[in-house]
Amino acid sequence: MQHISIFFSQLASIFMTTDYDYIICGAGCAGLSLAIRLADPEFSHRKVLILDKAPKNTNDRTWSFWAKSSEDRYTSIYARSWTQLVFHAPEFSVRERPFPYEYHTIHGIDFYNYCLEIIDKCPHIEFKVTAVEQVVDEGDFVTVRTEDASYRCTYVFDSIVRKYPKEENLFVWQHFLGWEVEFKDEVFDESTATFMDFRIHQEDETIFVYVLPYDKKKALIEVTFFSKEILEENEYEALLKPYVSKYYGDGYRTLRKELGAIPMTTASFGKGTPRVIPLGTNNGTVKPSTGYAFNRIQREVDILTDRIRKGRIKRVKPKRRFIAYDRTLLNVLISGKEEGRVVFSRLFKKNKVTSILKFLNEETNLLEETRIFSTLPFWSFLRAFARENVFQYTKTRTISLS
Ligand SMILES: Cc1cc2nc3c(=O)[nH]c(=O)nc-3n(C[C@H](O)[C@H](O)[C@H](O)COP(=O)(O)OP(=O)(O)OC[C@H]3O[C@@H](n4cnc5c(N)ncnc54)[C@H](O)[C@@H]3O)c2cc1C
Repeated sequence: MQHISIFFSQLASIFMTTDYDYIICGAGCAGLSLAIRLADPEFSHRKVLILDKAPKNTNDRTWSFWAKSSEDRYTSIYARSWTQLVFHAPEFSVRERPFPYEYHTIHGIDFYNYCLEIIDKCPHIEFKVTAVEQVVDEGDFVTVRTEDASYRCTYVFDSIVRKYPKEENLFVWQHFLGWEVEFKDEVFDESTATFMDFRIHQEDETIFVYVLPYDKKKALIEVTFFSKEILEENEYEALLKPYVSKYYGDGYRTLRKELGAIPMTTASFGKGTPRVIPLGTNNGTVKPSTGYAFNRIQREVDILTDRIRKGRIKRVKPKRRFIAYDRTLLNVLISGKEEGRVVFSRLFKKNKVTSILKFLNEETNLLEETRIFSTLPFWSFLRAFARENVFQYTKTRTISLS
């Protein structure tokens, strides 16, 4: 059956007057991750176009994530890996090796170069630097209009976010300022990354610091907020500077800054159509409760590549059970039912770091998840779970039946 459907889809593409089989809109993390999978010789009979308004030649971000190293295709471009993580609350610290996971960092520019080099060797994939203005599903094909041309293709994989669902209740930004600093003296323990440090003044929102020591003298130190409003640079600096002085001293220079904002929400971004498939952030792939996306994007494009291979192309949806958990945690944090610092402190005090990473990677089973939830403030989480999932579910059912 599968062979027949592939045969007919290939036959159809021969007679259809499209310029490309697939157009990938946006050559960021998701677009390029998909493109390098389509670089595989098994797809060499497909014509692929990647469009981005930027040439992807700047180090515009740093991706960190945890993975079992042997499983990861990007090991050659890891800037640094850490076998140990530390969590700090004002009253205690947890330092653990989260085996079998290691924490890794990739510089954006290394990722872009790695992917663009692979694509460059593939005659069936083109990359054009131009802004996409419109994507229209015409029924039998898709038209993509850019600032200087128009293309037809059978499917679009669309990683361009047109609008953030900011008005939704369950929406906050994870926003941050990071400094890459270099000290004169050896002040860092280079074996250990600081996952979250809550030894910092809290306002109404969740605020923590994140430290990635590249060596004994150099590190990325980032102050991170979960809140509705993004701040001015000097407002982050007002927290970051005293933190750096207090824990590492003043003998440093700043090499680079990273200002960023990541949407944390379960609300939908790109709606998509049968031939326009949302991808990456535009598909809601950023983990709503943590802002991590690199690993999830890799999983998303693996599934999508398999669907392309089988000729059954459709958007990849997040796992329903974990959406329910994400909605719950977002509700607790946004409603202020519990302070973020209290929730994360309970989580790290009462669970192994490995279990937490496994849970956040959505690799746990129901029993492991129940154990983790039992360590969190029970009534606040139960109420939030009911409000975001049970009542929402009832509401959706009512609407769909009417
Ligand atoms: C500063 C920063 C740091 C982050 N750090 C981490 C981290 O450590 N770990 C983690 O897991 N996640 C992290 N994230 C979250 C997430 O991994 C990234 O946002 C990731 O880049 C999302 O991939 P994406 O492809 O959806 O979007 P992007 O990588 O942003 O790609 C979208 C692409 O679309 C292009 N584009 C936009 N509009 C147009 C247009 N009109 N025409 C053509 N092209 C267009 C852009 O130029 C861009 O290349 C970070 C995000 C930011 C912003």
